[in-house]
Amino acid sequence: MKITDPFDEFGCLLFDETLMQERLPYPIYKRWKETVAKEDSLDRNTADAIAHAMKRWAQENGATHFTHWFQPMTGSTAEKHDSFIEPDENGQPLVRFSGKSLIKGEPDASSFPSGGLRATFEARGYTYWDCTSPAFIRDNILCIPTVFVSYNGESLDKKAPLLKSIEAISAAATRIVNIFGDKDVKRVIPMVGLEQEYFLIDKRYFEQREDLVLTGRTLFGTMPAKGQELEDHYFGSIPSRVAAFMKEVNQELWKLGIYAKTEHNEVAPCQFEIAPIFSSVNIAVDQNQLTMDVLRKTADKHGFACLLHEKPFAGINGSGKHNNWSLVTDDRQNLFEPGDKPAENIRFLVFVCAFIKAVDQHAELLRMSSSGAGNDHRLGANEAPPAIISIYLGSYIENVLNSLKGAVATVEDQQDSSFTPVSGLSYIPKDNTDRNRTSPLAFTGNKFEFRMLGSSLSASFANVVLNTITADVLNDIAQQLADLKYKQDIRARALEICTQILKDHERILFSGDGYSQEWVAEAKRRGLPNIPSFVESVSALTSPKTIELFTRNHVYTEKELIARSEIMNEQYVKISEIEAKVLIDMTRTEILPLLTREIQPLAAVVRTLDQPASYFKKQLTHLNELMDRMDKGAERLEGKLKEIAVVSDYHERGIRFYYEAAPLMQQLRSAIDEHETIFDKKQYVLPTYEDMLFHS
Ligand code: ADP
Ligand code: MG
Repeated sequence: MKITDPFDEFGCLLFDETLMQERLPYPIYKRWKETVAKEDSLDRNTADAIAHAMKRWAQENGATHFTHWFQPMTGSTAEKHDSFIEPDENGQPLVRFSGKSLIKGEPDASSFPSGGLRATFEARGYTYWDCTSPAFIRDNILCIPTVFVSYNGESLDKKAPLLKSIEAISAAATRIVNIFGDKDVKRVIPMVGLEQEYFLIDKRYFEQREDLVLTGRTLFGTMPAKGQELEDHYFGSIPSRVAAFMKEVNQELWKLGIYAKTEHNEVAPCQFEIAPIFSSVNIAVDQNQLTMDVLRKTADKHGFACLLHEKPFAGINGSGKHNNWSLVTDDRQNLFEPGDKPAENIRFLVFVCAFIKAVDQHAELLRMSSSGAGNDHRLGANEAPPAIISIYLGSYIENVLNSLKGAVATVEDQQDSSFTPVSGLSYIPKDNTDRNRTSPLAFTGNKFEFRMLGSSLSASFANVVLNTITADVLNDIAQQLADLKYKQDIRARALEICTQILKDHERILFSGDGYSQEWVAEAKRRGLPNIPSFVESVSALTSPKTIELFTRNHVYTEKELIARSEIMNEQYVKISEIEAKVLIDMTRTEILPLLTREIQPLAAVVRTLDQPASYFKKQLTHLNELMDRMDKGAERLEGKLKEIAVVSDYHERGIRFYYEAAPLMQQLRSAIDEHETIFDKKQYVLPTYEDMLFHS
């Protein structure tokens, strides 16, 4: 019997560095390396040579088309396919792929959101190869990761700003590392590992629910008697049909060179998680987009629907995307790793303190960066992070920082209070650093885990923010240390800076229960922002503070930020209004007719019997009342939508939706949900939560 190695095919669909080294003439390979290291730009000959090698490889692997794969501001990915085949001068078929086609493309940009960045007379947008992210083959298409910009060079996508923010953090962190004596370090790369949560339900059920098909979440439905109370799903054994699905997902991802590592059941029934091994942020974000795509398509093949929405079902956990973020030098030192040399410990303290200051200064922006219309239903709910940003450091680090300020260690659960700030750090027991699962931003031994991100979102923007806010503070610190010559002075000054930061920003540190009501009150007392809705948080994008931050670090221009906020507001309004319309439609064309069919025989019984049982009458009255609530509820919601449709400013319209229409949706839903609990199960035509969550 031939035993096949499941990892044999690892990376076979990825045109990675090893392949480039193998297939490119050495000078060409070297040029490419220099381009990646930003030391040179790609010339036409090099591009032609790379394109040629890429085409050969793609053809050998069955690819017939190529596409510039990009990430427009819709949050998903876009591609337009071109085949490799064209006629030559004599009309004979020729397989061609030029350096020009590799480097630059011109998709028609007019149907992607641009927030006014694209004047009508210049509908063109351009895609440019991001040569730091390898090309790959998907469904016989050679996909070339690209940035997407307007005629004037403004970014129209989620990748270009990310690349700029990587430059910003790299430069700033390198400055600090150099100041602390490590002169050889030239680059610092943000590393990210993204844990992706999702639901899997039977495709048949999915297709029967208009709300799931059109909005990705159920707009009504009640939890059956058995919810997630038993917590028996988490880490439980994986059902065989799901296991087959996961096996194929892993195979697909491995072929694409993605190190899919961990998979397990999540807390809610039918909820699962997949996590790859961390990589540089640009690649991690690209790979996460691919992972979501592979999950969806593979689910479909296995008769499932993969729900990536943040809150597909009310009453049980939603789905997030945990963003594990660290900074690693080009010689592989993790700057959040507490080292064993005192000098490095001070450097570590500088990085941690810079992060604390950055988060406290830009909490609203961080909150915004991890949100979307869907995440509004999840933030603050069971198990999920609240909408208040705070940092959990773990008692050990917190005590170290407290002792910096000269204060007595106050955090409970300390292992040792006799240390000085600069010793002993390397012995941090990692398991002790991540006990707080209720914190939106937790230090987990050598990285920060940002848990607020919604499952369906692109992870790009959250990382743009993490990179830029940290770069900004690091630059400021570097400035203050720049003139000092002697190591001792640098260290002393650095400790002073850290101490000051802690005094000024300790309000952002919180190690208690982030889901408790007490925390909401306490955070308010501390003056921490608590922005209830996504649409309100969008304002953070265009505040003077944010504009200064991003322009100072060359990540976004003011114009780009305004455009982005317009797109976000418009998306929120569109998503919300579609949901409301679907709910009205389902009420009128599915639920009310169901009730009508149910009520007629009942009414007849009550009419014909001399003394109908009180049950009949009670039921009739109840159904009658529910019918009325649904009918009027739909009408009221429809009226409200009409009323706010005239508001042309999307931000204002979004806020009106959130405060005026969303509560009406909730009211309408409560009538439908109440009906579901008294209805004859066998007659209920729509799949219920019980069907979807326990019989998928
Ligand atoms: P959890 O306990 O939250 O499930 P894991 O230890 O499984 O966390 O790791 C979650 C993710 O963090 C994985 O994708 C892992 O590769 C990533 N990760 C580990 N170390 C780092 C690091 N230094 N920087 C960034 N991500 C990291
Ligand atoms: Mg995690």
